[in-house]
Parts: sequence; structure tokens; C-alpha cells
Amino acid sequence: MRRRDFLSHSAALAALPLAGAPAFAGWFPGAGTHRADAVRVNGARLNGWLTAFDRIGRTPGGINRVAYSAADLEGRAFTLGLFRESGFSPRLDAAGNIFARVEGTDPSLKPILIGSHVDSVTDGGNFDGPLGSFAAIEVARTLRERGVRLRHPLDVVVWQNEEGGTIGSKIFIGAMTDADWDKVARSGKTVREGVGIVGGNFAEIASAVRRKGDIACYLELHIEQGGLLEKAGRQIGIVQGIVGLRWLEVTITGFANHAGATPMDQRQDAMLAAAKFTVAVNDAVRGEPGRQVATVGRLTVTPNTTNVIPAQVVLTVDLRDLEHATIDRFTGAFERLAREIGAATRTSFQFKRLVESEPALAHPALMDAIQSSADALGLSHQRMPSGAGHDAQEVARIAPMGMIFVPSVGGISHSPKEFTRAEDVAHGADVLLNAVIAVDRA
Ligand SMILES: [Zn+2]
Repeated sequence: MRRRDFLSHSAALAALPLAGAPAFAGWFPGAGTHRADAVRVNGARLNGWLTAFDRIGRTPGGINRVAYSAADLEGRAFTLGLFRESGFSPRLDAAGNIFARVEGTDPSLKPILIGSHVDSVTDGGNFDGPLGSFAAIEVARTLRERGVRLRHPLDVVVWQNEEGGTIGSKIFIGAMTDADWDKVARSGKTVREGVGIVGGNFAEIASAVRRKGDIACYLELHIEQGGLLEKAGRQIGIVQGIVGLRWLEVTITGFANHAGATPMDQRQDAMLAAAKFTVAVNDAVRGEPGRQVATVGRLTVTPNTTNVIPAQVVLTVDLRDLEHATIDRFTGAFERLAREIGAATRTSFQFKRLVESEPALAHPALMDAIQSSADALGLSHQRMPSGAGHDAQEVARIAPMGMIFVPSVGGISHSPKEFTRAEDVAHGADVLLNAVIAVDRA
């Protein structure tokens, strides 16, 4: 989504009675001081589900539930079982996303949507996705067990193929391109084939698409996948948004010459220029406050030979931030630095944009609802961007979005070492539960 669109989208949403402390006062009077008002999920039950799920797709290398594989199907069957065991009737949309609805008391209201995914990367962990999916089921179950009727319908969703490019949620918002449909998952199946494999119906795919105004809001609980919360000793991350990304390809041209016969002051060394540029990018990004990150991740050196001064280097820069303007500003800074380094090394730099994705910002009122919930539960929290992509970034294009993070031990994710402590699992689900109630009553 373009940032401009988001702002006008936000303005339209201002009509929604989501924002403002007074609206939540009845539920969390003086946030943090009336903790008896906060409700809690059954954390032991939720952790038990995650432990049982850990055996599915478990290999010596880690969890392998890549989309459309046998283990993915087994994981989805397990998840469908949790819905049924919890008293819900799950259904598949045409994309193969799993949905279950709890009806609200006011038929005029649009649904609150909560959920995540259960597919994994290759050699991944058990918490990236399943945490938010199972917590959403647990939240719906807790509401029913406690006899809490929401005004809004509550839809619990488990998106298909998140790790292969947020596919299920991208279908849901109608943003698929031909290239997306032809993408091959690590299981060897294309997305087009995958829809049928997970029980969807490609011929009816349009019926899976939702538009702006169809959803009241979307909330997703997820592990942080980084180490900020653990380092800060905080229990809950209130996600400000999912960072936008720009990939630049930089071609540096020098002149190939003999490594022995060419004096040091007569060289046009593209590799030396690339090295200086790599350091300059790092210094520029670290030289300012903020959460912007940039990485020079790939270098292709020509002729890549021991005794020849490099004639050309093609390198990539991966640049990310929550603000589109910051991404633009650093792109400009990199281009200026390249001109200086080019002049000093007698090389030339050419920039090309390879990939661009816009930041997806969380809705301020949903951040407030998450914060009030954490306060009411007595949990410490901080606001932070998400450096990783999530289904929430897709849904944010059609509905207000909020995300809750809980700590990853050691900041490790997409690894068999991925782990989130049982108490943090329960805390995250508790915050999701109370945020849903707060948003519903606001
Ligand atoms: Zn995930």
C-alpha cells in the first residue's frame, strides 16, 4: 500500500470508534490499576497444543512444514482438530485458508479477525505461526467458556502458505499477481497447485477476496523473531508496523589490470570501491537514531581472479524502515556516498531498484488497545517495528491492523532453536484476548 493511501484510509477509519482512552475506560479504568478486570486464557492448554504440534514435521534439521507438503497437510489437520475440539466448525475458503466464526450480538457489525499461519520455513521452529494461530483459537474458546458475547462476529483465521510470500492473506485482499500464482514453494508445488492441495478451489478463488470495509480490524500475535524484547527485559511488543523494503543493485565499474605490474596509485579497483561503499552504507545507517537497517548481502566480482584487479562488482543493498521517506532519504545518501567513493577510486557507480515493498503501519487505536490490555494484565511492553514480513502487512491494506509480539529466546527464529517460554506464550494470548474485548466494546 502506498503511504498516501494509508493516510486517507486512516482518515476514513477515524469514524470507527476505535481510538481514545475514554472509549476503553469502562473496560480498563485507569489502565493498570484495576487488574481484576483483565481476563486470561488457559495458558496450560495453549502450551499443551504447541507441545503436541512440535512432533509434526519434526526432522533432525528442525521443523519442516513447508507449504503444500505432507507435513503441512498434517499440521492443518491437527489445527482443524483443535477448532473442532474447541467447539467450533472450521471451513475452508476458496484459497484454502481456514476460518471459524463466533457470531456476535450485533448483526450490523463487521467481523474482528484474529489468527496467523501454521506452515514453516525449511528447518524452522515450532512457534513462528502456530503461536498466533492456536492463541486465536484459545481466545475464541475462552470467550465462549466464560460466556462473553462480543458485539462483533469474531473470525479466527489460519492463513495458508505464509512463508512462501504471505500467499493466503494476499489472496484474501485480492493482491495476487501472475508471478505470485506461479511461485514454487519449497515442497516443489506452485501456489496455483497448492490451493487445491490444501482444500481450496482455484476456480472459485474470487470468492475468497475481501475489500476495504469488510473487516472491522485484524489482530495477530506472533513471536518477535529478534532480540529487542529479551534485551530490554520486556514482555510484550506493540508492533508499530511492518517495515517497507527496497532492494538496490549497484554496479561498480573499474578497470581490470595486472595485480603485480600496476602501481597502487594507478588502479581503478571496483572491489576496493565496493568495500568502501559497504562500510559507508553501514556508517550512514548507524549514524542516525532510528530503526532503519541496511545490508550489503551479495557481491559478484569480475573477473574474480587472484592476480587481476577487479574490473566490476555488482552488489545488492537491502534497505528497510517503517517510513517510506526514510527509505528515500537513505537511498539519496547512498547515491551521494557512491559519487564521492567513485571520484576517489576512479570508478563509476550505477544504481538500479530491484524490489520495493511499502511499509504497513499498525492502526494507532489498535496499538492503544494492545497497550491498555498489557497494562491491565500488569505486563511490561514497548512499541517496536517488525523487521520481518507477516500476513498482517497484507490485511493492513484493507483493514486496521494491530500486532502483538512476545520474546524469542536469544532472538532466534527460522531455526530449530526457535523457542518462546510458556509464560510468554500465555501472556501474548492474554493480551490478544483483552485487546479483542477492548476493541469490541469501544
Ligand atoms: Zn510467521
